[in-house]
Amino acid sequence: MLNLEALNQRFEGASPSEVLSWAWEIFGEKLAIVTSFQPTGIVALHMLREIAPCLPVLTVDTGLLFSNTYLLMDHIAAEWDLNLIRVRPGQTPAQQAEIYGEALWLHDPDLCCQLRKVTPLKDALTAYDAWITGLRRDQAETRRLTKIVSWDSRYENVKISPFAAWTEEMVWAYLLAHKLPYNPLHDQNYTSIGCQPCTRAIAPNEESRAGRWSGTTKVECGIHSQNTGVTLHSG
Ligand code: SF4
Repeated sequence: MLNLEALNQRFEGASPSEVLSWAWEIFGEKLAIVTSFQPTGIVALHMLREIAPCLPVLTVDTGLLFSNTYLLMDHIAAEWDLNLIRVRPGQTPAQQAEIYGEALWLHDPDLCCQLRKVTPLKDALTAYDAWITGLRRDQAETRRLTKIVSWDSRYENVKISPFAAWTEEMVWAYLLAHKLPYNPLHDQNYTSIGCQPCTRAIAPNEESRAGRWSGTTKVECGIHSQNTGVTLHSG
């Protein structure tokens, strides 16, 4: 049984690689990382090359990602020989449109995310006791209370966010110092990148996730709706 309070106290000032090493030591083959190949995830994958190079890397492929994102994940997976597992929904976008109508993301984005992200990931995570995320407290108000180690009641496993205390500046400093690849859309003011229909570039004074589900009250896809301490939009 993990003492979450003690672990969070221990890791609050620790480096992410220290947390990753602990996670690998404790959970071994029952550990996975979930990433959408955004900067924090790429930094985590880079650290894991030394710590656990065979770790399962789960990525939710909704079938609606940017072509740049597919190119980036294919490139990194090949270059770093990742154990990449593409988690896909039960229906293609065309099959979903037949049942729910065209562009479900416009009239019910919560249902669309549930079908294409949350449920497939929940199914995939049943094989693991713990998962690593790239959540950071500075990303959005909904993530301000992110703990480094927590119990995820939605997925019924341990959620580990080694970068919770890192800032966007720290991530980019690491990324650039190690000359790591990143999505070229970031150079066009796409600070947070998800599915193409629900992502836009941000204006200079907007917060980093303002380009996600722009024009709606939705702020999270639902994958991280637990453990943030904040009630999220649900309808
Ligand atoms: S981000 Fe948009 S397109 Fe992607 S699953 Fe959610 S609602 Fe659908």
